[in-house]
Amino acid sequence: SRIPLVVGNWKMNGSLASSDAWLREFRELCRKDAVRCESGLCVPSAYLLAFTPKLDSEPVAGEFHVGAEDVSDRVGTGAFTGEVSGDMLRDLGAWWCIVGHSERRTLYGETDERVAEKVKAAYDAGLHPILCVGETLEERNAGRTREVVLRQIAAVLSVAGIEALEAGAVAYEPLWAIGTGVAAGTDQIEPVHAVIRGALEEADPVKGGAIRILYGGSVKPQNAAEIIALPDVDGALVGGASLDAGNFYRICAAV
Ligand code: 13P
Repeated sequence: SRIPLVVGNWKMNGSLASSDAWLREFRELCRKDAVRCESGLCVPSAYLLAFTPKLDSEPVAGEFHVGAEDVSDRVGTGAFTGEVSGDMLRDLGAWWCIVGHSERRTLYGETDERVAEKVKAAYDAGLHPILCVGETLEERNAGRTREVVLRQIAAVLSVAGIEALEAGAVAYEPLWAIGTGVAAGTDQIEPVHAVIRGALEEADPVKGGAIRILYGGSVKPQNAAEIIALPDVDGALVGGASLDAGNFYRICAAV
């Protein structure tokens, strides 16, 4: 009964011109043949306004929302140079907000605690947080995948509560499958999604059972159907392949 969800993550890519072209192409494809899943696109906050006013005037077929890739852990206003608050993102029309992406954790030093504060800040601002979790290759090889993923989720549950994740989603993104062109195997994805489902249901059987768990890491039109057919895989978080509206549409259509 969980409606599949496919969300793109542009990372630090795009321009005003490509934002405009992407939306026109995706809308055109949906007009010809509507997708049945829910979908979304997270873009650099600098480009949110290239999407959101146009979605207000003419919604894309099906449920489609645009979002941000990160949010400040700071609430309100203040002397926090460079930060963009959840309220500001809402003001720009954002719906989704990716939080705790592995690139934020590894390249910008975001700890479990910081990520948890960000999920809370996003949720309190009315955004729909997509919490990313996942292990490094080293952690996987050391047999620590389960421990790492459970630790990342527990930190968020204790600070932000399960309601924050119920409003959004969880994305399992093994670091070694991101941007490599080779997705994790279905036999590797399925057990981790089951661990995540178990942790969410332990926190709250009903809410935990309703939260969508996405897989991310080299999802393409060619492998999307097989991955999303797995039990407890409720959609995908798509990096590189989301830059092209046609590829993103084909992933949505494969669900
Ligand atoms: P790729 O799809 O480019 O591997 O990126 C996955 C990702 O990090 C999405 O958040």
